[in-house]
Amino acid sequence: MKSFTYERAASPAEAAAAAARVPGARFIAGGTNLLDLMRLEIETPMHLIDVNGLDLDKIEPTRDGGLRIGALVRNTDLAADPRVRRDYAVLSRALLAGASGQLRNKATTAGNLLQRTRCPYFYDTNQPCNKRLPGSGCGALEGFSRQHAVVGVSKACIATHPSDMAIAMRLLDATVETARPDGSTRRVPIADFHRLPGDTPHVEHALAPGELITAVTLPKPLGGTHLYHKVRDRASYAFALVSVAAVIQPDGNGRIAVGGVAHKPWRVEAAEAELPRGARAVAGPLLADASPTHHNAFKLTLVQRTLAAVLAEARA
Ligand SMILES: Cc1cc2nc3c(=O)[nH]c(=O)nc-3n(C[C@H](O)[C@H](O)[C@H](O)COP(=O)(O)OP(=O)(O)OC[C@H]3O[C@@H](n4cnc5c(N)ncnc54)[C@H](O)[C@@H]3O)c2cc1C
Ligand code: SF4
Repeated sequence: MKSFTYERAASPAEAAAAAARVPGARFIAGGTNLLDLMRLEIETPMHLIDVNGLDLDKIEPTRDGGLRIGALVRNTDLAADPRVRRDYAVLSRALLAGASGQLRNKATTAGNLLQRTRCPYFYDTNQPCNKRLPGSGCGALEGFSRQHAVVGVSKACIATHPSDMAIAMRLLDATVETARPDGSTRRVPIADFHRLPGDTPHVEHALAPGELITAVTLPKPLGGTHLYHKVRDRASYAFALVSVAAVIQPDGNGRIAVGGVAHKPWRVEAAEAELPRGARAVAGPLLADASPTHHNAFKLTLVQRTLAAVLAEARA
């Protein structure tokens, strides 16, 4: 691991200002992703700003009937919150499908949204990777790509976003709140927060340098039946090959978002109009323009079958 300096931030504004002031600075929350990347020297920040002491660990109701989740709320606490379990059960289920109990005790809401891909070529510094080293090429394109994306891909990168929680946040139309180095704040809809790879796969989200996530806000509850199905190689402690988050209303309408298939949580609102007609009808517009590799073409069938299982469970 490369050496680095360290400080504890006293306020969100101070954290953001410090991150902008010191070149190569990074925030650290639970550290469950960042420290692994630092050990492997995939990320080599010169300075760490520990945000764990900030007052950002509350879950509070909003004036319009939603819920405001502090950036430092641990995944375990968020999944167990009675309001989340009652009104946003898809979020609780997605969280509990991720990682392990020990990791969820440390992992935070903001860190989970910003965790980096699990593409094995990204983690192998002997391999080319445009995300790790822009312009070096993509090891996965000609390599083993069973885990990789099938929609929204580019010639530069076919990595997926690994978060389960982010799929549910996208389904629920969450908003990311931030504090910026100049003292201002802003709100970014989750639909605009994560990016597709394009020519710049190393640019993964909408945050500017030094911008700190302070909270994630959920709108008022949707009602309906909340489901999260995750298909993976092991029953636990494994990332999704395909996951489907759904809120289905009694009349068969609803929302769906899919994980394990793209560089960002994948939701196509036009496909949701097909929900009463069944999984095959939804899969068409959901996976339009899919561009799978030889290794991961199975994901197209797997999405449709996982959708069918979700819809059957919702009906039952
Ligand atoms: C073995 C293993 C298995 C896992 N399995 C799963 C799984 O199945 N599903 C799943 O979803 N996840 C899984 N994870 C990932 C885990 O959920 C993430 O590592 C965790 O959510 C990251 O949160 P953290 O607080 O530890 O982030 P950190 O590691 O502290 O930070 C991650 C990134 O977020 C940035 N950051 C942190 N807080 C802020 C903030 N407030 N504002 C701006 N930037 C910030 C950091 O600078 C860093 O870039 C797994 C991890 C491991 C190690
Ligand atoms: S898919 Fe993306 S992360 Fe994986 S090797 Fe290619 S550029 Fe890197």
